Amino acid sequence: MGQIFPWLHARSLPRVRFFPSGVPGTAASPWVGGLYHASDHRIDIQHVPVLLRQGRLESTVQHEFVHAALALAGSARLPLWLEEGAAIYLSSQSLDETDTSVQPARTLRELENGLYTFGQSRTHVAWLHLKAYNRQARAIVAALIERNGLEHFTGFLRTLKNGTHLAQALGSWYSLAPGDLAAWL
Ligand SMILES: [Zn+2]
Repeated sequence: MGQIFPWLHARSLPRVRFFPSGVPGTAASPWVGGLYHASDHRIDIQHVPVLLRQGRLESTVQHEFVHAALALAGSARLPLWLEEGAAIYLSSQSLDETDTSVQPARTLRELENGLYTFGQSRTHVAWLHLKAYNRQARAIVAALIERNGLEHFTGFLRTLKNGTHLAQALGSWYSLAPGDLAAWL
């Protein structure tokens, strides 16, 4: 991760805690393996034996490290599709590609709203929606990285984390408008 995010170095690494079942004292979604807490720069990994059995422990930790690196890059919030898409893509996390029960989002706004709304819920239906939207978020990030490479992409992320609006950052880094991204949905 330090190669992708040069500002994440030994002194700025998040604290990582591992739990065999759910994180004690919280009601973390059972569908989620890892959680990053920006308030104290901490990663909690839950259900470790399950993640190990599924071969997902390493990518789950890496996924949360991306969130930690992004939190250090600036205080502005990224759109959820970009934050999650980056975490999924850069951690080489595998997603369920087989489930097609959910209608994919057709616009960037639909994708953002879907990630937000279903991210609040802990039901299985919500999880199915998130799986579909996560694939779409990753697809946009993959397309951006294919276009100009990884370093260019992290430069773009940093600009956004410093408070630049999406339309402006997309225009200056990629000569694209937000609506153009719908082509990759
Ligand atoms: Zn995430």
